[in-house]
Amino acid sequence: MSELTSLTLAEALRGLSEKRVSSVEITQAHLVAIEAARGLNAFVLETPDQALAMARASDERIARGEAGPLEGAPLGIKDLFCTKGVRSTAGSKILGDFKPPYESTVTANLWRDGAVMLGKLNMDEFAMGSSNETSAFGPVVNPWKSRGSNQPLTPGGSSGGSAAAVAADLVLGATATDTGGSIRQPASLTGTVGVKPTYGRCSRWGVVAFASSLDQAGPIAKTVEDAAIMLASMSGHDPKDSTSLPMEVPDFRSFVGRSIRGLRIGVPKEYRADGMPPEIDALWEQGVAWLRDAGCEIVDVSLPHTKYALPAYYIIAPAEASSNLARYDGMRYGARVDGPNLTDVYEGTRADGFGEEVKRRILIGTYVLSAGYYDAYYIKALKVRRRIADDFTQAFDKVDALLTPTAPSAAFALGNKSADPIAMYLNDIFTVTVNLAGLPGMSVPGGLDASGLPLGLQVITRPLDEATMFSVASVLERAAGFGAKPLRWW
Ligand code: GLN
Repeated sequence: MSELTSLTLAEALRGLSEKRVSSVEITQAHLVAIEAARGLNAFVLETPDQALAMARASDERIARGEAGPLEGAPLGIKDLFCTKGVRSTAGSKILGDFKPPYESTVTANLWRDGAVMLGKLNMDEFAMGSSNETSAFGPVVNPWKSRGSNQPLTPGGSSGGSAAAVAADLVLGATATDTGGSIRQPASLTGTVGVKPTYGRCSRWGVVAFASSLDQAGPIAKTVEDAAIMLASMSGHDPKDSTSLPMEVPDFRSFVGRSIRGLRIGVPKEYRADGMPPEIDALWEQGVAWLRDAGCEIVDVSLPHTKYALPAYYIIAPAEASSNLARYDGMRYGARVDGPNLTDVYEGTRADGFGEEVKRRILIGTYVLSAGYYDAYYIKALKVRRRIADDFTQAFDKVDALLTPTAPSAAFALGNKSADPIAMYLNDIFTVTVNLAGLPGMSVPGGLDASGLPLGLQVITRPLDEATMFSVASVLERAAGFGAKPLRWW
């Protein structure tokens, strides 16, 4: 098997189980690719020794006929997931050299199923951002470039390292998390597939918390099938997370490639952002045409509270973050700045350890939760959240799935929006609604814009109906025939 890094996860698993390739060989090939791609800054920690040890153990299990569903497949892990004994930073300086004494449930599930860890992937600090530029480790560079330009572009965020690593063939797949779009938007900007499952499908235990009522883990992968394979391993009930759903995990992969004839697809008219490039509108229409050709009935729907989603999200997420991040005080773990008294230690540690965007969120969150403003901001935002969820419930009375663009732009230049937080927040306009309502949503590559950059389409379904989402996405994937890969410049 040549070009081991260009295999999909499904192809690699087949090669491994048929013993045409060993896990050590495939892992080694990825380690070489990672080393050659350091210019992308996708990894904050490479774990080659651990990877090879895990690969050898996988090869032994394969030889004994004890292979798990992901046996021998090398993956990357977003650095928001705690990994036992392996530095986990959440993209922040404040965690210092923190080596968790435990493993997150999602990563434990992957290792249980035989996956191999290549290392920890770069991300926006505490997953706050849409461009990977808030990372304490510096931005990730998108493997894609505009045709004829050398300008470095963002891979999106906050799971920018995960998306870039998958797009550049450094990993067979990656874990990611999505609080307001951090799986789907980077997938859209890098020509990869990103799945945010229903809230509660994946355990949040051991995932550094940003906004607990919105955070969900999911995969970024090369294909819809690969994403389905990964999600099946990542999901499942976990008594250690009280919001984890006590549900069976469906065989997501079996829904890939199924006929969607007769499904009703909703097109929400509010998902048209001001100043959105006409190409994104055109791709959306193309997506609608593909689904019509596949036998779907297209229905216009309205999600009237969409325009309040970003303001509500940017109150609720910082409110929860301000409370979740109170634990970083320099006392028990992570970085610490010493001082003459307790308050000085707190202040010094937090002033030094958190970056600008994280401080902004903590300030906003503390403000909207403070006594005089709680009702006016936080409670109001919760009411808006309910209306947004109700919009979806009503739409799903009429349709089985919704089709929208994933993001209002293709990959933009690093530095282009980092000085203007509002411009950055606007990039989440089509993704935050899904988190506010707890729904499954995924991004699938639909095509390239005029400058050769990938654009994604988003499929949204009812809670717990990832099955339909995978079927619709796989039809779009096939129709788009998106085989494009970034030209290798790194
Ligand atoms: N870009 C959004 C934010 O900054 C979403 C981030 C995420 O999903 N983690 O909050």
